[in-house]
Amino acid sequence: MKPSPLVQIKLIVISAPSGAGKTTLCKKLLEDFDELILSISTTTRPPRGDETHGREYFFVSKDEFEKQIRKNKFAEWAMVHGNYYGTSKEVISSAAEQGKTVLLDIDVQGAASLRNLYSKSCLMVFITPPSLMELGKRLKARGTDNEQAIEKRLKNAASEMGRTSEFDHVIINDSLERAYEELKKLVKKHLLRPATDLNG
Ligand code: ADP
Ligand code: 5GP
Repeated sequence: MKPSPLVQIKLIVISAPSGAGKTTLCKKLLEDFDELILSISTTTRPPRGDETHGREYFFVSKDEFEKQIRKNKFAEWAMVHGNYYGTSKEVISSAAEQGKTVLLDIDVQGAASLRNLYSKSCLMVFITPPSLMELGKRLKARGTDNEQAIEKRLKNAASEMGRTSEFDHVIINDSLERAYEELKKLVKKHLLRPATDLNG
């Protein structure tokens, strides 16, 4: 990546097993903090429900995603639950140019890549469910994934939860209100820190 030395950046990376509640928590943060902007990822996963291209994700074909990898368009990308997901460099730099702190909802592999790239300017938070059983219940109740997809997500959850030591903070999403208060405090503190340049 060849960043302009004048562009300052701050990132907040939220990772969690699928169904732990990170989308719900990120939505609340975006309502409460004008300083934040959500990074819209690119994926080869098909849209769920009323998901819209350019709103939840940029939905692309496998060929298109691999073309973007070859063109070095991603700050990070990973294969998650059998599909490609990636954060484009363009999304991060355009947010930074607007003076916004970038909020990223990405998996543990992507979080590790961004920590290496932007270590000084990254707040890394892992959201964990109270138990795998509760996670299964939430995924079923959400009603957006079929049995097979839920099984795959639960299997991955155990290994993702084994990587919590890579994060600055771990929040247990038992009660949504309590977990959100904990997250809000961390975000407020991070927003007060000075930004570093894109090489941060
Ligand atoms: P993720 O983005 O991590 O996959 P979601 O935010 O979509 O997870 O949450 C998964 C489901 O669990 C949603 O239906 C959401 O409303 C619900 N949920 C989130 N947090 C809690 C909580 N603390 N208690 C019970 N249900 C929750
Ligand atoms: P979902 O299909 O439920 O929207 O997301 C599945 C997983 O992919 C979640 O853990 C989510 O955080 C992760 N994810 C979403 N966007 C990205 C991305 O750009 N990069 C990486 N590495 N993971 C992502």
